[in-house]
Amino acid sequence: MPDQVHDVIIVGSGPAGYTAAVYTARANLSPIVLAGSVTAGGELMNTTDVENFPGFPEGVMGPDLMMNMEAQARRFGADIRNEDATALKLDAPIKEITLGSGGTLHARSVILATGSAYRELGVPGEKQLSGHGVSWCATCDGFFFRDQVIAVVGGGDSAMEEALFLTKFASKVYVIHRRDSLRASQIMADRAKANEKIEFIWDTEVIEVRGDGKVSELELRNLVDGTESTLDVSGLFVAIGHDPRVQLFADQVDLTSEGTVQVEGRTSRTSLPGVFAAGDVLDPHYRQAITAAGSGCVAALDVEEYLADTADTDAAEAHQTPKVDVAAG
Ligand SMILES: Cc1cc2nc3c(=O)[nH]c(=O)nc-3n(C[C@H](O)[C@H](O)[C@H](O)COP(=O)(O)OP(=O)(O)OC[C@H]3O[C@@H](n4cnc5c(N)ncnc54)[C@H](O)[C@@H]3O)c2cc1C
Repeated sequence: MPDQVHDVIIVGSGPAGYTAAVYTARANLSPIVLAGSVTAGGELMNTTDVENFPGFPEGVMGPDLMMNMEAQARRFGADIRNEDATALKLDAPIKEITLGSGGTLHARSVILATGSAYRELGVPGEKQLSGHGVSWCATCDGFFFRDQVIAVVGGGDSAMEEALFLTKFASKVYVIHRRDSLRASQIMADRAKANEKIEFIWDTEVIEVRGDGKVSELELRNLVDGTESTLDVSGLFVAIGHDPRVQLFADQVDLTSEGTVQVEGRTSRTSLPGVFAAGDVLDPHYRQAITAAGSGCVAALDVEEYLADTADTDAAEAHQTPKVDVAAG
């Protein structure tokens, strides 16, 4: 038996991890949050205005929102460490977590809140102009592009969904795709093709995003004849997929066909007892700060219930253990 066994360890420090920390800390479970060595705060640390998180009528900067969540979790005693989990052993009743800095922690329960990484184009200008015209989320940022000309990169269902959603705001939406046909389902492709605000640019890739502090043009390359051209736009939405961060535990908990962690119904319970998931790592569809936060709350409440149930079971087993009559030998 390890020297110290914690009630709960939370891996990840986005809205899901910090919300789970607030709830478990307020339930006196003394959570430890492994926040990541360089990525504490999660995806919202990479953005500017967040206008759709309830409670902030004027909007809030992404990093400010995350620092507030962190402060709120600390206020109730969450032990937040800027550490990476580098290995997890999740199948036994006592879970073991190896830390990037060395050492191991043990806990009765673990919440996996490691998020999901949006795929990037990997071209010059993309990172620098992220939050300044480059976006990965139409639901989050579409509103900022009212009456503007913008582009979406991608050819799947989510690219079509993003493009169609963006037509509510933008005056024109270019869809730039590497091939001459879409991967999207027929119904989504038909809808996008029928929308008069959408224009397709086929067989083409973006090779650079340019702008002085804000996106103003894209450099494009035609993949059939190699010609290069520029396209004037004020926004670029990258919709080429996302990768749930499951590498650490993909061989231990069940995953869905989309690669997200499989949970039971509306709970956060994974295929392993005592292991719970929250946020974008289990969500193939909604992926919003508020849905991640809600999911962190669910995981915390499930952990509370699990720990109470296992404590009851342990007590009942201890009660039933036959006493050894020493005198009888
Ligand atoms: C540029 C951008 C702008 C966005 N804007 C909005 C918006 O305006 N409104 C909105 O609602 N949503 C927005 N989103 C989406 C939102 O950020 C996500 O839905 C939300 O952050 C998901 O929360 P999460 O807690 O599940 O994961 P994340 O925020 O991704 O956090 C996961 C955390 O886990 C950590 N982690 C991963 N592996 C380990 C490990 N092994 N050890 C320790 N830590 C680990 C990561 O480093 C990270 O800190 C935006 C996303 C992006 C990329």
